[in-house]
Amino acid sequence: MKFGGASVKDGRSILHCANLVKKFSNGNEIIVVTSAMYGVTDSLLHAARKCCNEPSAGFIKLFIAEMMKKHYDAVNEAVRNDEIKSKVLSKIDKLLDELEKVLLGINYLGELTPRSLDYILSFGERLSAPILSAALLSSGVDSLALEGGDAGIITDDSFGRARPLPEVYGTIKSRLEPLISLKKTVPVVAGFTGVTKNGTITTLGRGGSDLTATLIASALNADEVWLWKEVDGVMTTDPKIVPEARLISEISYQEAMELSHFGAKILHPKALEPVMKKRIPVRIKNTFNPDAEGTVIRESIRSTKDIVKAISLIEKVAILNISGAGFDFAEVMADVFRKLAENKVHVIMVSQSSSELNLSIVVDEADISRAVKALEETVNGAGRISKIENIAVISAVGAGMAGTPGVAGRIFSALGRNRINVVMISQSCSEYNVSLVVRRDEGRKAVRVLHDEFGLSSG
Ligand code: ASP
Ligand code: MG
Repeated sequence: MKFGGASVKDGRSILHCANLVKKFSNGNEIIVVTSAMYGVTDSLLHAARKCCNEPSAGFIKLFIAEMMKKHYDAVNEAVRNDEIKSKVLSKIDKLLDELEKVLLGINYLGELTPRSLDYILSFGERLSAPILSAALLSSGVDSLALEGGDAGIITDDSFGRARPLPEVYGTIKSRLEPLISLKKTVPVVAGFTGVTKNGTITTLGRGGSDLTATLIASALNADEVWLWKEVDGVMTTDPKIVPEARLISEISYQEAMELSHFGAKILHPKALEPVMKKRIPVRIKNTFNPDAEGTVIRESIRSTKDIVKAISLIEKVAILNISGAGFDFAEVMADVFRKLAENKVHVIMVSQSSSELNLSIVVDEADISRAVKALEETVNGAGRISKIENIAVISAVGAGMAGTPGVAGRIFSALGRNRINVVMISQSCSEYNVSLVVRRDEGRKAVRVLHDEFGLSSG
C-alpha cells in the first residue's frame, strides 16, 4: 500500500491511513510506502534553491521551525502512546538538525549540485515514514520505519531521476521479506528515496513513491499494489473539464501508461514496468472513500465495448519543428534526438512526414528554448528550426481502437464539425492512442467534443 502526499497531509489523515492499514492487515501481509506530507517536497525544493542563491541564515531558522511545527503537529495528532511519541519526536529532531546543517552548507557554498538537491528532497519522506510507522505502533500494529536505501532500493547516480539497478529486486527481498514473514511487522518505507552502491542518497524523480511501491511489490511477488490517493480512481477525463466524466473500473497497463504519459496524473509513468512482467494488478483507491472499488490496472481486460476509454489533455507544451531539404534524414534524426536527450528535453510526441522534409516534436513548454538552442547548433544550416507555442496535446486512449476501422475518422470529423483545427497528429501502430495537437485555447473544447463523441459521459 502506498499513501500519496494528500493522504498524509496532516496528523488526522495519517492516523486514518494507519487505521486503514490496520483494518486490511487482518489476514494480509502488508508493506507500506509513504510519500512526504502534502507540499513538503515542494517546500524543500524551494528552500534549497533559495539557500543557494541568497544569504539565508534567517530564512533557514524559520524554515526549520515551520517544518518542525508541521511534523510535530502531525505526531501529536496521529500518535497517542507517550513513549512512542517521544521516540518519533527525537527522530524528527535529529533529521531536522541534519537538514538545517545541509541548508547552511548550501548557503555558505552558494552551490546546489543535483546530488545535494536529492539529499535535501529525501527529507520529506524520511520524516513522514517514521510518523506513519509510529501511528501504526500506537494503534497496536507492529511496525518499523525504513528509508528507501534500508529497504533495498539501490539506484544508479543519475540524481533527480535515479534508476533502480537490476539487482534491486534481490536486495529488496532480502531486506523486507524477513520483516514481514518472520517478524510479522509492517514495514513503512520512505517512498521516492533510494541509495547508490556507495551509500549516497538519491531520488526516483517527482511522484517516485509509486515506483518504490511497484518495485517492492515485484520483488516480493505481491498479490496487489494499492495506491491510496485523494480521488476515487482513473476518470474518463479531467472532471474539471467535463463534469460528467466517469470513473473507469478497469484499465490495462498499456492504457494506463499511455494516459500517464499524456498528462493524466494517474501514477509515475515508469511505475508500471516492475509489475507488468509479473502481472501484479495495481489498484487506485481513495483514502477518504475507502469503500469505493477504485480503478484496477491489470494485464488484460475483458473484451471491452469501449473503443476509446479516456481523453487526456496536456496544456504546457510547444512544438519544435525541423524542416529542410537535401540532407540525410536518418542522420539528422539521430543527431536531433541525441541532442535532445543530452539536454534533458522531455519529448512527448513525434510526427514526421514521409517526404522526409519535416519532423515535428512536441516538448514541455519549459524545455522549448533549450531545445531550439541545442538543435540550432546541431542541424547547423542543413535544416530550419522553428517553434510553435500556445498549443495543447489531446490524446484518445483505448485498447479497443486497435483494429477498429473508423475511429480516427470519428475523431477528426467530430473536431471538424466543431471547427477545431488539428495542427499535428500521431498514432503508433500499437493503436492504443491517437494524439493530436490543437490551439491551446481550443484544447478544453476539443476534450469535451471527443468525450461526447465516444459516449464517455455518465448517464
Ligand atoms: N514526495 C515526492 C514528490 O512530491 C514523491 C512522491 O510524492 O511520490 O514528488
Ligand atoms: Mg507527492
